[in-house]
Amino acid sequence: MVRVRFAPSPTGALHIGGVRTALFNYLFAKKYGGDFLLRIEDTDQTRYVEGAEQYIIEALNWCGIPFDEGVGKEGKHAPYRQSERKEIYKKYADELIQKGKAYYAFDSAEDLDNQRKEYESAGKTFIYNWQTRLQLKNSLSLTEEEVKQRLDRGDEFVIRFKMPEEVLKMNDLIRGEVIIDTKTLDDKVLFKSDGMPTYHLANIVDDHLMEISHVIRGEEWLPSLPLHMLLYRAFGWEAPQFAHLPLILKPVGNGKLSKRDGIKLGFPVFPLDWTEGDAPLKGFKGEGYFPEALVNFLALLGWNPGTDQEIFSLNELIELFDLERVHKAGARFDPEKIKWFNHQYLQKKSDRELADDFSKILIEKGISIATDKVEKIVHLIKERATFVSDFWELGSYFFQKPSVYDDKAMKKQWKENTAQILTEVAQIIKETSNFSSVPLEEAVKNHITEKGYSFGQVMPPLRLALVGEMKGVHIFDIMEVIGKEETLQRIEAIKSING
Ligand code: GLU
Repeated sequence: MVRVRFAPSPTGALHIGGVRTALFNYLFAKKYGGDFLLRIEDTDQTRYVEGAEQYIIEALNWCGIPFDEGVGKEGKHAPYRQSERKEIYKKYADELIQKGKAYYAFDSAEDLDNQRKEYESAGKTFIYNWQTRLQLKNSLSLTEEEVKQRLDRGDEFVIRFKMPEEVLKMNDLIRGEVIIDTKTLDDKVLFKSDGMPTYHLANIVDDHLMEISHVIRGEEWLPSLPLHMLLYRAFGWEAPQFAHLPLILKPVGNGKLSKRDGIKLGFPVFPLDWTEGDAPLKGFKGEGYFPEALVNFLALLGWNPGTDQEIFSLNELIELFDLERVHKAGARFDPEKIKWFNHQYLQKKSDRELADDFSKILIEKGISIATDKVEKIVHLIKERATFVSDFWELGSYFFQKPSVYDDKAMKKQWKENTAQILTEVAQIIKETSNFSSVPLEEAVKNHITEKGYSFGQVMPPLRLALVGEMKGVHIFDIMEVIGKEETLQRIEAIKSING
């Protein structure tokens, strides 16, 4: 049975790297008919941020990758918030002490600081491990009597893992064999003096209890893998399989994509809007991206299907996804590419759906207009749009008469006989009873031929009359939408300012 989990710490808005991790877990679970869990890892109270947990849940829902079990969807392993599982962890830390795999350490922060300084002045780095532990204050160096005394009188302590000394071979589903000499590692703290477990202990205890089969997480956790493997071994538990996903890199330069890159270069790195202090940060949703576009884009950040196909529905992704095709190398974040995806998804949306969204913008502008008409307009202009918010820029002339005319175009297009020609065209338009694009075009073009005019004498001034500048969709489509009255008024208006 495949059971995977996304285990974020609620320390702020969910970065898109986190969304990608959640997505890969979701795809993997659904592909194998398994469960996708959300566990909130909030044992580090000092980094807890109000609202972050809610944000994570809303973000996953908006992306359309809901979890099967987790906070708010309690299953048989509830609770799913680590702060509510506090009592569970101490027992496991004690078990490791009994087994001789962990020990009490009484060193104060000051003691450790002094050690560090001493090592530094000798040009060395202090590590709490096999080389130093017997010179420090812990249950391995002190007598049993002393340890008991300290515990009885309530001295502060942490519980540290007694890192074995060996060459450890591990397997990662993406990276293959990973080998490390554990002598280079430190005796990590498993349990803190505040009565809370550290990430490492809580994480592996919960993965075990929640019957997690595969741990799929970001590459930044790869250094923790040896400790996690050794913890499983120390407990005598079977370890899940591990897969560490490649980093998401900056669009240019080196290193991991950060929040600052987004601010500096003007693109979102969060799914939803988020306010930090007084600084509001726009998310993909707020910037007008569709969740399907974000998901499609993220799926290809670190994974590829082995073909040239780029557009995938969520179901196709589920079918095609596999960890074998996840790369080791970091994946560069390309803000232009996600715009491209959004453009593609916008073209796939129905005119009705787009019209509903666009109507909200129109209402804000104080324009009320029948949805059928908005639908028609959207149909005409959407080809050039990346976001629904582009519609106004692309089609404002459907809703308002030109208030100014492009000066340069006017000088170029307005000739001596232009007013006369437009008067004739207006007459033709007036007489056209079937007021739609094709018959209008036919009537006007017939007139042009009959009179021996060139198209250049007629069409550009007509466009200027309707739009105010040399842009916009097919002229006769514009006429059909704005209607006979409005078309004639706009022609009159341009004539009067030139006359
Ligand atoms: N709480 C860790 C995080 O914030 C979880 C890492 C893991 O998946 O093991 O990403």
